[in-house]
Amino acid sequence: MKIAFIGLGNMGGGMAANLVKAGHDVSAFDLSEEALAAAKDNGCATFTDASEAVLGAEAVVTMLPNGAIVKSVYTDSVIGKAPEGAVLLDCSTIDVATAKEVTAAAEAAGYDMVDAPVSGGIAAANGGTLTFMVGGTDKAFKRAEAVLNAMGKAVIHAGDAGAGQTAKICNNMLLAISMIGTAEAMKMAQKLGLDPQKFYEISSQSSGYCWSLNAYTPMPGVGVESPADNDYQGGFATGLMLKDLRLAMEAAENADANVPMGQRAASLYEDFNGAGNGGLDFSAIIKML
Ligand code: NAD
Repeated sequence: MKIAFIGLGNMGGGMAANLVKAGHDVSAFDLSEEALAAAKDNGCATFTDASEAVLGAEAVVTMLPNGAIVKSVYTDSVIGKAPEGAVLLDCSTIDVATAKEVTAAAEAAGYDMVDAPVSGGIAAANGGTLTFMVGGTDKAFKRAEAVLNAMGKAVIHAGDAGAGQTAKICNNMLLAISMIGTAEAMKMAQKLGLDPQKFYEISSQSSGYCWSLNAYTPMPGVGVESPADNDYQGGFATGLMLKDLRLAMEAAENADANVPMGQRAASLYEDFNGAGNGGLDFSAIIKML
């Protein structure tokens, strides 16, 4: 299939390479010359203009930093430029309102479109093991699935347009809350004189069981191996978690949803990020407690 790929950064670079490996003919565009050169090495045809990259494409995939950029790329370079009838897939993490707005504009111009944000970081993007949560019509989902399968291990239809972004930010809000709760409980157990490893053994088999404790233990040398054991390098950066929490807070306000724990988690991550920790894995928030 002829696929245009726009946004070849940390995530998009590996995703585009996996589309090439699956036998697709990939036309790539990024503002960064370095990213374009890497894409060329990975077998993509490269272009210096997004609207040229989408010419003749049967599918267009975008992996961009935020909603404003996604909206401008689709408005200026994809809608009306890619062949009518192409399927459009935005895999960026952006706000729900912009995702719905861009999809509506694309549909009005005769395209099928999905929002398909991912779970899994750079390693999963490179390894083709991302999980995609997809919002869009049944028809758009079926068409997008064929493309997404080449880049991920799971492709789940969440619901209508925007549902992929909704699933992503609700999941990550829950993750932030559970990570802070896990970190708090571990530190409190330690302060009360309980060996943190004993706490892990007990709570990971009791009702405190959760992914943050059992699969991503935030204290070095305790529980399973995680970024904590590597000085909080790698993993899921605090800055990206904060981005998702800000999107979650915006969505909660628009939907009049009451999220006191999400608000508290967002404010703690604002403080931690503001103290210069944006590049550390998000589990490093334990250092602040
Ligand atoms: P990144 O900054 O590494 O890559 C973004 C790329 O988009 C850059 O190469 C940049 O040059 C390019 N770009 C920016 N504006 C552009 C434009 N107008 N036209 C063409 N290219 C443009 O970011 P990333 O880590 O690859 O993340 C991409 C998206 O994936 C974000 O929405 C992020 O929230 C989401 N995400 C990232 C991770 C992760 O672990 N990095 C995990 C899940 C989801």
